[in-house]
Amino acid sequence: MVVGAGPSGSACAYWLADAGWDVAVIEKKQFPRDKTCGDGLTPRAVRQLADMGLEGALAGSHRHTGLRSCGWGHVLEMPWPDHPVFPPYGYTITRHDLDEMVAERAQKAGAVVHQHTEALAPLFVDGVQAAPEGAPEGAPEGAPAGAGAGPGAALPECRGVTVRDLTSGETRDVLGRYVVVADGSNSRVGRALGTARRRGYPLGMALRGYYRSERHDDPCIESHLDIRDASGEVVPGYGWIFPLGDGRVNVGVGLLSTEQRWKGVNTSRLMEAFVAGAPKSWGLSEETSCGPPTGGKLPMSLAVGPHTGPNVIVVGDAAGAINPFNGEGIAYGYETGRLAAASLSEALAGDGPAAIARYEERLMESYDDYYRVGRAFVRLISNPTAMHWCVAVGMRSEAFMKELLRIMANLMRPGAPGAAEIGYDALVRIAELMPEQAAALLA
Ligand SMILES: Cc1cc2nc3c(=O)[nH]c(=O)nc-3n(C[C@H](O)[C@H](O)[C@H](O)COP(=O)(O)OP(=O)(O)OC[C@H]3O[C@@H](n4cnc5c(N)ncnc54)[C@H](O)[C@@H]3O)c2cc1C
Repeated sequence: MVVGAGPSGSACAYWLADAGWDVAVIEKKQFPRDKTCGDGLTPRAVRQLADMGLEGALAGSHRHTGLRSCGWGHVLEMPWPDHPVFPPYGYTITRHDLDEMVAERAQKAGAVVHQHTEALAPLFVDGVQAAPEGAPEGAPEGAPAGAGAGPGAALPECRGVTVRDLTSGETRDVLGRYVVVADGSNSRVGRALGTARRRGYPLGMALRGYYRSERHDDPCIESHLDIRDASGEVVPGYGWIFPLGDGRVNVGVGLLSTEQRWKGVNTSRLMEAFVAGAPKSWGLSEETSCGPPTGGKLPMSLAVGPHTGPNVIVVGDAAGAINPFNGEGIAYGYETGRLAAASLSEALAGDGPAAIARYEERLMESYDDYYRVGRAFVRLISNPTAMHWCVAVGMRSEAFMKELLRIMANLMRPGAPGAAEIGYDALVRIAELMPEQAAALLA
C-alpha cells in the first residue's frame, strides 16, 4: 500500500506494479490537481520519466536547454551539461498535468489508485502504537530524530491505514503487507508513525505564482542569486522565473531557513521585492499575475527519519529527500520511490524485513556523500559574507559556474576527470576525513 500519489508514491507504485505486485495507492486529491511547485524538471527528473516510458508524453511540454544565472549585475547562460546517463535538457510542466500523467502510468501498469480518499491514521499491530526504536522518547515534532534518521533506527510495524472516502464520507481500514509513506512534506502518516525532522539539517521555504509573459517560451530557466530581505541584505536562497511555454511563467522565491537568523524573513515580502525587481522584459506585474502566490516547506538532504520499519518505507518529501543545493525534489521523489520499490520487491519475494533494511543502504549509497557536501554548502551560503563572496566571485567566471552547475544539479560523471568531478571528490574526502573541521572550514 502506498499513501500519496505525488512523484514519489506514483513512481514507487509504478515500479512495483510493473514488477507484478499488487499495489493500492491512497490519494486524498482527485486528479488532475494543483500542487505548489516551481514546475521545473531537470535532466535527472527527465531520465526517471523516460525510464517509466513517459518521455513521449512530455513532448507537448516546454523543453529548456539550460540555466540562465543572474546576480550582481552579471548574467551567465549555461547549457545543461553533457552526461552519459542524463539528457542535456529539462522540461517545465505544471504539477496539475505531470502528477496525473505519472499516476495514470502507475494505474496502467496495474496499480489501483483510490483518489479522493484520505489516509487518517496508521493501523498499528494489536492497536498498540510502539515508539520508534532508536528515536528519542516522546520526541515532539521537529525534535532531532536523534538516532532517528541514523543507522539502526526503525519505525514500528504498521498493518495499513484508516481512510476516509471524501465523496461518501465513509471511513474504513485498508490493510497492506507493506506500507509506503509518500504523503509529502507535512507527512501526517509519517509523523503518526514516528518520523521527525533533524534540526540543523537544511529546510527551505518557497513561494510561487504564475504570470502571463511574452517570454513564456524562453529556452532557458532563469535563477536570480541576489534576492534581498526588507533591510536590503542578501538572503540564502534564490528567485526563479521558469517559462512554461503556454503563455505563462512560474515565478518564485526559495529561502533556506535552516539558520535561526533567517527564520524571521517574510517570504511574501521577498516575493514582492523579487517580482518588482525582476528584468522588465518578463513583464511581471499585478496586471499579468494569474493569482496570489502559494508556498510550502522543503525538507532537504534526507532530513526526516527513520526511513524504514519492519514493513514500512518512507520516500520523497516525507523522508526530506530534496536536494539541498538547488531545492529540486521531483527527481528525488521518483528516485527514492524506485529504490523503495526495489527493496519491497525483494521483501515480497521472500527476504522480508531484511530487504526493507536494504532501502536505507540504497539511500546512503545514492545520496550520503552528496548530501553531506550539500549540508556544508548550505552552512556556507547561510553566512552572508561567505554567500556574497562566493556569488560575487563565481559570477565573474563562466567556467567556474558551469562546473558548479554540474555539482548543484547532481550531474557529475562518475570517474570522469572534469573539474566538477575532481572538486567534488576532494570535498567528499575532506568531509569524510574531518567532518567537524570540514564543516567549520566550509562555513
Ligand atoms: C514552492 C515550491 C517550489 C518547488 N519547485 C520545485 C521545482 O521546480 N522542481 C522540483 O524538482 N521540485 C520542486 N519543489 C519540491 C517538490 O515539489 C517536492 O519535492 C515533490 O513534490 C515531492 O514529491 P512527493 O511525492 O514526495 O510529495 P508530494 O508531491 O507532496 O505528494 C504527496 C501526495 O500525497 C497526498 N497526500 C498527502 N497527505 C495525504 C493523506 N493523508 N492521505 C492521502 N494522500 C495524501 C497529496 O495530496 C500529494 O498528492 C518545490 C516545492 C515548493 C514548495
